[in-house]
Amino acid sequence: MNAFIPYGRQLIEDDDEAAVVAALRSDFLTQGPATRTFEDELAAYVGARYCVAVSSATAGLHIAMAALDLGPGEGVTSPNTFVATSNAMAYVGLEPVFADVDPDTGNLSLAAVREAINDRTRVIAPVHFGGLPADMEGFATLAGERGVSVVEDAAHAIGSEYVSGGRVGNGRFSSMTVFSFHPVKSMTTGEGGAITTNDPALHEALMMLRSHGITRDPARLADAPGAWWYEQQMLGFNYRMTDIQAALGASQLRKLDRFRDRRLAIIARYRAGLSDLAWLNLPPDTGTQTVCWHLFVARFDFEAIGRTRAEVMAALAGEGVGSQVHYIPVYRQPWYVARQGDRSGRFPDTEAWYARCLSLPLYPAMTDEDADRVIAAVRGLG
Ligand SMILES: *Cc1c(COP(=O)(O)O)cnc(C)c1O
Repeated sequence: MNAFIPYGRQLIEDDDEAAVVAALRSDFLTQGPATRTFEDELAAYVGARYCVAVSSATAGLHIAMAALDLGPGEGVTSPNTFVATSNAMAYVGLEPVFADVDPDTGNLSLAAVREAINDRTRVIAPVHFGGLPADMEGFATLAGERGVSVVEDAAHAIGSEYVSGGRVGNGRFSSMTVFSFHPVKSMTTGEGGAITTNDPALHEALMMLRSHGITRDPARLADAPGAWWYEQQMLGFNYRMTDIQAALGASQLRKLDRFRDRRLAIIARYRAGLSDLAWLNLPPDTGTQTVCWHLFVARFDFEAIGRTRAEVMAALAGEGVGSQVHYIPVYRQPWYVARQGDRSGRFPDTEAWYARCLSLPLYPAMTDEDADRVIAAVRGLG
């Protein structure tokens, strides 16, 4: 019997294990020198001045919003995301406002955001859906015209490059970029996240917000009576990453480009094996743009094959192939419906995406034989 192929999973190798064991045997278990090393290496990798490692991307999105100190108002984001993006706005008292997606990519639509912006808008949070960068050149221009901030949710997009070049997170198009290292993402620290920025004031605020709002920086203390002195100068949180996680993160980061190339090879195999199916729509081919695809979201014409999505997922599972839905639109979640009412009629392209999307397995440990089993299982549906 062949092993079950999940829709995504981490790849932990011997050197990752050795890095974690070394951190466990060091003096620091929580945030210490390994966290600092990971931050420096991640900043260098994406091409940003600063990086702040945190306990999750959710924590990172929260303190990114908090660091902007926006006051009451609204934030505009994609409904085709995990709930954490818009929740981060609600944590800081901003009302989340959703805008429709691009029908071909599932990314936040620039035209829809332009419509959704008003004088209460404080921030736009594009999500690089599936690892494909959103139209950041467009969002940065729009945000500049309207005087609003931009925070990138790059939970899917570590290792991807913008269409005009440069790695996601380099700070060219936004105040801050937030990454996730949850095990299903393209590299992992168990739980974990990071924020990159080029702004020294935001960097300082993020470092304080991650650790209770406390500082020991002599430059920020008027008259410290001794080396033991610290001050809580803002209301912060305990969102620290541990050195155990950071050691794993630094080890994973060094192999991210290899992981990306393996993901791209699996996708090339999928394209060769599936692109002739009239009832299946594959993600766009990005040509020379480097995209570290986190998800491979196909869109099925379920009517054409006479099966519901639930039946397709069950049939694939019967062949040992996992699949997943990305995403249930966030405005459909009960907490949002209770707060904002049923808004599904306003987002035809998100609804169309949701009706047809199904993510097929994609992770660096997949073999060519695994990919061929996925292809055969999908072809068997038609
Ligand atoms: C996974 C994810 C998050 C949250 O990441 P955590 O590290 O689990 O908190 C946020 N946004 C998107 C788009 C995600 O996929």
